[in-house]
Amino acid sequence: MVFQAARPNSLPQVGLAKVHLEKLRRRDFVAGSALIDGRWIGGDQRDVVVDPATGEVIAEVARCGAADMNLAIEAAQRSFAQWRDLLPERRGAILRTWASLMLAHVEELAVLLTCEQGKPLAEARYEIGYGAGFLQWFAAEGERAYGETIPSHKPGSVLQVRMQPAGVAAAITPWNFPVAMITRKAGAAMAAGCPVVVKPAPETPLSALALARLAEEAGVPPGVFQVLVGNPIELSKPLLRDARVRALSFTGSTEVGRLLLQGAAETVKKVSLELGGHAPFIIFDDVDLDKAVKGAMAAKFATSGQDCLAANRMYVQRGIYSAFVERLSAAITRLRVGHGLEATTDIGPMTKSSVAEKCRAQIADAMAKGARVVSGKQDRVFGQNFVCPTLLSDVTDDMLISGEETFGPVAAVLPFGSEEEVLARANCSEMGLAAYVYTDSLRRALRLSENIEYGMVGINTASFTGPPIPFGGWKQSGLGREGSRHGIQEYMELKYVCFGDLVD
Ligand code: NAD
Repeated sequence: MVFQAARPNSLPQVGLAKVHLEKLRRRDFVAGSALIDGRWIGGDQRDVVVDPATGEVIAEVARCGAADMNLAIEAAQRSFAQWRDLLPERRGAILRTWASLMLAHVEELAVLLTCEQGKPLAEARYEIGYGAGFLQWFAAEGERAYGETIPSHKPGSVLQVRMQPAGVAAAITPWNFPVAMITRKAGAAMAAGCPVVVKPAPETPLSALALARLAEEAGVPPGVFQVLVGNPIELSKPLLRDARVRALSFTGSTEVGRLLLQGAAETVKKVSLELGGHAPFIIFDDVDLDKAVKGAMAAKFATSGQDCLAANRMYVQRGIYSAFVERLSAAITRLRVGHGLEATTDIGPMTKSSVAEKCRAQIADAMAKGARVVSGKQDRVFGQNFVCPTLLSDVTDDMLISGEETFGPVAAVLPFGSEEEVLARANCSEMGLAAYVYTDSLRRALRLSENIEYGMVGINTASFTGPPIPFGGWKQSGLGREGSRHGIQEYMELKYVCFGDLVD
């Protein structure tokens, strides 16, 4: 047995999150009110926020319902014309101020994020900078949302294409990046001229509400950025049904993405979806093994594995298979598991116990079908949300882990022979978000990058995300793109105008 259940009341870390939250200079970051139409709503009904490392209640937040969401949509619609008509440079200035405030409060926001999400504090700090980067990027993109002039096919006419804001936007965001997934959507929407209503994941509302406090301070007008926390189905229904909500952006599971796409069909909204991944990480035997191991560690264990870019299938060419497994195992054994607030922690808890259970189920299935647990024995047990970083070797294509996203710190290694074989196996997935290839051959890298069916490909690197890149997937990994110059288009409509009869 690899995993043991812990007794939650014997955990040494209980109270750690509360101590850190009590030290926050900004007490309003944990006030737990919703922001609707420029007003902070405490609400009669409250939901609790827990520290995923200990299960301890660390805060309460207002539970909003459908009526609150309707008020928010109305407020957003009222604010639309004024926000749309601001000069792009003025909207950009507000977004930049908001980003500066995030950076000025990086430590407090990072503590908040770690307390509710669980990721190590260093990763939380990184996320605040990453998240602020989207506001800065889109501040400038809004100023460059150029249209076109088309060489005319009609005598005596001028043909123009304008880009105009679509209207009220809705953002339904996940718990794995509670800050950056909001700014990546809201930054684009607001730069385009659209007000945004955000429904964050119920597990991580504090980061979203803190962002709302800072947005208000940055001068975002009432109704332009609103945050409501509550039951996902109850809150999403009005967003889907209301025709005034013109754009919907979602990050999360493919299952929920499908439901939202169906729901949005009724009012034919613009929909962008960033859904699950199942990244192949392909290593050829011509590589520098140390670099490949370093890349594999980064691609697998960032955010404790709870990342849609995470390497889910590590295909390793037979010539280096044993050596790779040995070195990866040594690196995994060095990872330290613990509370995200402890400075030594590399791997925190899973934010949701269902994610930890899924990891355990995949490990059990793989072992039953002949995989080997190379590393992953727990000598220290923390609690039900923790998954010890695990390396499974001799994984085969019929195992659960080869077919479904893990979203946790479990590395699956599969041997392969030829380039042709590994390409076919890598593409044999309904997911198409990110893929990684490690090789020293330029020709092979070019061939694979051309033929692999994924929206983002890292060649000899595990680190490629950031505001300038078009983030998104093929197939059932999603629709549309976030970040980059493409991201703003998810919130804009094209308008073609033909000026005719120009010749007297
Ligand atoms: P989820 O899709 O249920 O949650 C994501 C967001 O959708 C949250 O805000 C949630 O409140 C909301 N949501 C859930 N059900 C909804 C509904 N019926 N209508 C409207 N909104 C709804 O994801 P999860 O269950 O928390 O995680 C399950 C799996 O999803 C993970 O293990 C992972 O594979 C995947 N996931 C992917 C990402 C990503 O970055 N692409 C993020 C989170 C989860």
